[in-house]
This record gives sequence, structure tokens and C-alpha cells, in this order.
Amino acid sequence: MPSPPTIVWFRDDLRLADNRALHWAAERGPVVGLFIHETVGRPLGSAAAWWQRKSLNELRKRLSAPLIERRGDPRDIVPQLARELGAAVTWNRRYHLSDIDAGITHATGATTHPGYLLTEPWHVRTQGGSPYKVFSPFYRAALALLLDAPPSPLPMPEVTPADVEPEALPAVAEPEWVGTLGRHNQPGELGGVEKLHAFDVTHYDNNDLGAAGTSGLSPHLRFGEISPATVWSEVSGAAEEAGAFLRQLLWRDFAWHRFFHVPNMATVNVRGTFERFPWEWTPRAEPSSTPRAFAHAEMDPGAQHLEELAAWQSGRTGVPLVDAGMRELWATGRMHNRARMVTGSWLTKNLGIHWRHGEEWFWDTLVDADAASNAFNWQWVAGSGDDAAPYFRVFNPLTQQKKYDADGSYVARWVPETATPFYPEPMVNITESRNTALAAYGDIKD
Ligand SMILES: Cc1cc2nc3c(=O)[nH]c(=O)nc-3n(C[C@H](O)[C@H](O)[C@H](O)COP(=O)(O)OP(=O)(O)OC[C@H]3O[C@@H](n4cnc5c(N)ncnc54)[C@H](O)[C@@H]3O)c2cc1C
Repeated sequence: MPSPPTIVWFRDDLRLADNRALHWAAERGPVVGLFIHETVGRPLGSAAAWWQRKSLNELRKRLSAPLIERRGDPRDIVPQLARELGAAVTWNRRYHLSDIDAGITHATGATTHPGYLLTEPWHVRTQGGSPYKVFSPFYRAALALLLDAPPSPLPMPEVTPADVEPEALPAVAEPEWVGTLGRHNQPGELGGVEKLHAFDVTHYDNNDLGAAGTSGLSPHLRFGEISPATVWSEVSGAAEEAGAFLRQLLWRDFAWHRFFHVPNMATVNVRGTFERFPWEWTPRAEPSSTPRAFAHAEMDPGAQHLEELAAWQSGRTGVPLVDAGMRELWATGRMHNRARMVTGSWLTKNLGIHWRHGEEWFWDTLVDADAASNAFNWQWVAGSGDDAAPYFRVFNPLTQQKKYDADGSYVARWVPETATPFYPEPMVNITESRNTALAAYGDIKD
């Protein structure tokens, strides 16, 4: 009698190499893959959804087992499919929607494996046994764990296909704007491996806006096309310079460590005093109903901040570095980390607009949009999060430009008209808006 199949439920791990659940299933017998477009939880933004569709197609081509694709609530789909196929179930863990996964584990007896981080959020603890709130001590504790037991990626498994019909959902009509994303990105496991091999950690530089000094791995890590263990083990032996890069990788773990313990971080100020901060905020009626559409006055007729928000979103603020970052985002689905900090600071401090508007816009337009990293970093920039940049640290976009785009190549690439009469004046005065922000902060602090 053939051994019963095992369902591997793929989620944020769209790869074959170093995939613990796939490896475990392949050792037991025949494998059937499952991917669910979940109707629970926060819907993906437009750019990330585009990436996921492409990545899933790549996985389907490379997986030598049938892949079943469904849309709906996993609490119904997974147990029902397991019953139909008489199959065991396995997956790599995620660190949100824990109640859903716990219910399915209970219903199916699923076997779960470590997911997309270097450290499980509950393993890194202070001496008193509580989670960390500050990065540096978290970093030291996580690093000690990793040096003690270095990540060891698993090889590609030999997969025996289960005798099950594959299922794919009808193809989605792609909007026009995906053309520009396609020119700048290569979703899928092979794209991730190529990026890793092209990356020279000895020249890592995450400050120079014009240089290609960073890895470009974030969307590949986001969708699990490459595991952080693979990145860590490829890079850590390479050179002393690896330290700065590995530290960035651990910021990703820290964002998830915090998000695991504060799951409403995308909507609620982590530091309660900021609930009183007079940020401009107009909630969308249906958050996912107008993807990649600029803010418009119909949301709140006459609201000046919505005009400013639309100008920020479309890179027309009159501040060259801010406009360059926002246009890079729109065209490529990516933005340099330094530009993310400067554009975020301009929105939340100089324009006085709520970080949630920025978080939502990035969520919709970034190909690496990630539930924890996006929310965590927005609260970091705004000053309302754990271990955040102090509120009074308002980035001056002109000074930042001089320092981090010294040869002017970044701004020239994205905003070539800065030196012409067609380029507008800044919407608000840099010094006055900074002073207004600091005064508002003084009020809530008191
Ligand atoms: C307002 C704001 C929003 C952001 N939103 C996201 C997001 O949705 N998704 C996302 O992956 N990153 C986000 N970041 C973090 C960072 O900007 C990107 O991870 C980085 O720019 C990706 O480029 P890279 O892969 O070349 O990074 P590298 O410099 O090569 O770093 C290697 C990896 O480390 C991780 N990393 C680096 N910096 C950070 C950081 N500050 N926080 C968390 N992880 C980090 C990423 O996975 C990255 O791929 C945000 C930063 C800011 C300021």
C-alpha cells in the first residue's frame, strides 16, 4: 500500500532549498503542496500581491509535486483537504495570526517547524524572562544564540509527488503599472539566489543613496524565497564587514520579536502618550478598495492634509530627496532605507500627517511590504514605537541629501527637473514646520 501523502502548506516560504516543512514531508513519503489566498488577516498590498503571484508561479514550475491553490479561510480548507486526501499536514511557522494556526494544528495534528526568522521570538528573552524592547540588548542576546548554534541550512530535498490533481486559480488580469515593477524585480527563488550571489558583503554600504551598496534581498526574504539561515551562513564567514550587514538582518528579527508581542502595531501607537499627538488622519472607508490610488479630496472635502498626502505619495512635495524616494518607490516597488527614513520623517513631522497614512501607502506600494518591518519602522520614524528615533530627531532633507547623495546621482535619476523652473517650492517651510512639530511634541510630553 502506498504511504499516505503529506500536505505542505506554503505561506511565506516560497522555496525548495532550506525549507524545513518540505524536507520533513519529503522524508515521510509523497508530497502535495498547498497555497491558500487567505481571506482572513490583512489583505496584501498591490505590489506585494503582484510579487506573490509571480513567486507562486515560479514555485509551481520548480516543485516536482502537485500544488493545490485555493482561496478562502484556512480553518476550513486545511482540515477538509487533509480529510479528503487522508494526509498529514505540515508547515513552517509564521509569527502572527497565531490563533488561526493553533486551531488548525488542533484540528489536523499538524507538525510545525521554525519559520522565516533567525531566532524564534519567544527564545530571545531578558534575564528576567521577558521580551526585549530595545534593539541593542536584543541584538547581543540573539547574536549569542546564533554563535552558540549557527544556522545550518538544509539541502534541497528529493520530493516524491503525491498522486493528486494539481489545482490553480484563474489568472488575475494584471494592471498596467506592473510593467515597471517587472523591469526592476525578479520574483522567485532563483531571483533571490542570484541576488545573494551578486551581493558583495565586503562593500556593504546602506548609506550612500546613489550606490548599489545593499543586498536588495528584502522582498526575497519577505516571501521566503531565500531563508535568513542561508543568507547568514553564506555571508557570516565572508569577512569582518559582514557584521554591519548581519546586524541589519537582526533588525528584521527584532521587528518580528516586537510584532509578535504587540500584534496591533500597524494601527496603534506603541507609546501611549502619542495617542494625544495631533496628527492629521483620515481613515479610508475600505482600506483595500483603492489600491495604488493617490489620496483624494473626496475622502474629506477641503482637507489640506490630503492634498499634501497626495503630493507626498506622488513625489511632488518640492523637496528633492523626498520626491526622489517616493518616485523610486512608485516605479520600482523598492526604496533605499535612508530615503524611507527621510520620506517618513517629512510626512510625520514636517507635514504633521499620521504615520498610519505612510504605513498604508508603503504597505500598498512596496514589494517587500512586511507586516512587522513596515509597522515597526514607521513607528520608529514617527517616534511612537519601541526604541524609536527620539521625536525631536527631525531629519533635515537638505542636509541628508548633501551627506548621503553627495554626487547628486540619486536625486538626478528620479527628479531630473529639480534645477528647472518647473520644479515647485517646498509645500511647507522646513524650519517652521520642524518647530511646529517640536512644539506639538512638547505638549504631549507635558
Ligand atoms: C518607514 C520604513 C518602512 C520600512 N518597511 C519595510 C518593509 O515593509 N519590509 C522590509 O523588509 N523592510 C522595511 N524597512 C526596512 C528597510 O528599509 C529595508 O529592509 C531595506 O531597505 C531593504 O533593502 P535591502 O534588502 O537592500 O537591505 P540590506 O541593507 O541589504 O539589509 C539586509 C536585510 O536586512 C533586513 N533589514 C534591513 N534594514 C532593516 C530594518 N530597518 N528593519 C527591518 N529589517 C531590516 C531586510 O530584510 C534586508 O533585506 C522599512 C524601513 C523604513 C524606515
